[in-house]
Amino acid sequence: MPGAAEDLTALTTLRLPAKAAARRDVTDLPALREALADARAAGLPVIVLGEGSNVVFAGDVDALVLRYTATGREVIAEDDASVTLRVAAGEHWHTLVCWCLEQGYHGLENLALIPGTVGAAPIQNIGAYGVELAPFVEAVHAVRIADGETLTLSRAECAFAYRDSIFKGALRDAVVITAVDFRLPRAHVPVTDYPSLREALAGQAAPPEPRDVFDAVVALRRARLPDPATTPNAGSFFKNPVVDAATAEALARRYPGMPQFAAPGGRKLAAGWLIEQCGWRGAEGEGVAVHPGHALVLVSRGGDGRALLALAQRIQDSVAETFGCRLEIEPRVYGAAA
Ligand code: NAP
Repeated sequence: MPGAAEDLTALTTLRLPAKAAARRDVTDLPALREALADARAAGLPVIVLGEGSNVVFAGDVDALVLRYTATGREVIAEDDASVTLRVAAGEHWHTLVCWCLEQGYHGLENLALIPGTVGAAPIQNIGAYGVELAPFVEAVHAVRIADGETLTLSRAECAFAYRDSIFKGALRDAVVITAVDFRLPRAHVPVTDYPSLREALAGQAAPPEPRDVFDAVVALRRARLPDPATTPNAGSFFKNPVVDAATAEALARRYPGMPQFAAPGGRKLAAGWLIEQCGWRGAEGEGVAVHPGHALVLVSRGGDGRALLALAQRIQDSVAETFGCRLEIEPRVYGAAA
């Protein structure tokens, strides 16, 4: 393990300044097992990063920061109805979406332009414009950090839920995802009922093809969301809260314009709307801000993780005070004082 502190600033899309005791990029399974063994020998916990698009470093970490950067895609099964792909965890998510579209493998179009790697995608069960990853996942392959053993989890074992999976629960920080198997249909009816997507496609004469959905999603995201390459951010900073039916009804009576959606366990509220109503859109902290174009996205303007979490807490407090529900932070947070 290198002795010197390793700078992490360039490893996350928020570009928050932080250091780690050690860091390593590995491109294959033997190198991964060796790095894990070295971390065990040095007594260091392991933090796994992909492209760092859903991670907040609130301070320095006494850990090995590890990236598994293996790339590659192969067809492992196919028939007239579908194709099953095995994709290495280090592949760039959007590149996979583009490639699938070109090959005629459908279903992932709505998930275009979500930042991050293939290995990161199952962790939060990425979702956008009415589609989530879970139904396309056949299996997730991983290596256990504690002993280097290989694991394969079926879709059911991944315990996918709204922006959630076993990798955020029982297996949080316990495995390195090395590959994902996807089963994609050849004939697919595009999912176009998400309001902004339906609107974007409304002018078309013919029923939308997967390529049309892809183009519309790319245009919508480019118009609304800041590009992490130029504006450091981690996408949605808060999860959409789910409240029980009675609470939802009371809120709807009090705030007639409040968006609410059906969700398991009650009604889903739009976190961005709640934040905006509390007047936070465009607000600034110390080198951090609420994106002026989208209140759900916090951006860094040279500030650090402590300032970002302080701003997040002020937003959480204000939403809780106004609407009685506490927003949960979506990205993984490391290095925060207990
Ligand atoms: P929007 O259309 O302004 O809607 C705001 C919120 O309302 C969304 O978060 C969405 O929940 C929910 N919503 C709207 N219509 C819905 C419907 N018919 N059924 C269920 N839920 C509905 O959203 P936006 O902020 O521009 O984002 C568009 C899409 O991109 C959303 O799906 C969003 O999740 C996704 N996105 C993801 C990230 C990320 O970092 N993970 C960042 C930005 C945007 P859902 O979030 O559950 O869809």
